[in-house]
Amino acid sequence: MALRVALVTGASRGIGEAISRRLATDGFDIAMSDLPSLTSNLEAIQRDIASMGRRAYIHTGDVSKEHDVSSMVQETMKNLGGLHVMVANAGIMPLSTEPLGTVDMWQRVMAVNGLGSYLCYKYAAEAMIKQKQGGRIIGASSFFGKQGAENVTAYAASKFAVRGLTQSAARELGKYDITVNAYAPGFIETPLQLGFGMDKDTLATMKRAWASLTALGRPGQPDDIASLVSFLASQGSGYITGQTISVNGGSYFD
Ligand code: NAD
Repeated sequence: MALRVALVTGASRGIGEAISRRLATDGFDIAMSDLPSLTSNLEAIQRDIASMGRRAYIHTGDVSKEHDVSSMVQETMKNLGGLHVMVANAGIMPLSTEPLGTVDMWQRVMAVNGLGSYLCYKYAAEAMIKQKQGGRIIGASSFFGKQGAENVTAYAASKFAVRGLTQSAARELGKYDITVNAYAPGFIETPLQLGFGMDKDTLATMKRAWASLTALGRPGQPDDIASLVSFLASQGSGYITGQTISVNGGSYFD
């Protein structure tokens, strides 16, 4: 199997940006997708990837919308000539301030993290099966996909869902030589935390609290996740499937 084209969602910043840059360094042509409001970030990354001699295609859309995901996969195939690695990275993490959050929050988080991941897996799988070259599907779970906690009811449920989706898809797609795995990051320093609405001091305290729970004594960086994805996207990971792999500095959440 020649692994040549990778598609990354939520690619404009944070973990998705690091994954796109790493896979381009590994020799992949990259399709990058994110919300339309982040197009200029994508264009800056596209320029950098082009300067490495790799092709980078930009698609904008919302992963919770079926039409957007199907066109993202189709356009990737058309513009880059195939699809070998799908990284369903896009996600949101709002914190709830009332017991168990609101119905609206549940629906929003499930739409982006749950349905969005499912649509990416499904449309990538269909394309890879037709292509008959195998492939790699990689999803974004979380340490909250292994351990529930307060203020993150919907988020934790959605990230547990990614694990179930990953295990089940791995069972179904193995016969097509498609492996399906997910990463479960610990606290990784990215713009995700800006969405918590915390002031700088509270966020710094939270970061220290996380670091104290890890064996390595530090929060993670986007490149820590990109390193795992680089391996999962490689030929060498071919006998690993159905796994949700923690990248958390050795925290107790596993
Ligand atoms: P981030 O907020 O920096 O980036 C997420 C990206 O997803 C953004 O570019 C955003 O625009 C995009 N996105 C959000 N909703 C979308 C939608 N409906 N359609 C298309 N794109 C959408 O977050 P990050 O920290 O880089 O996280 C990446 C993934 O890793 C997420 O799935 C997140 O849940 C997961 N994760 C992150 C951490 C962490 O500590 N940063 C920990 C565990 C899991």
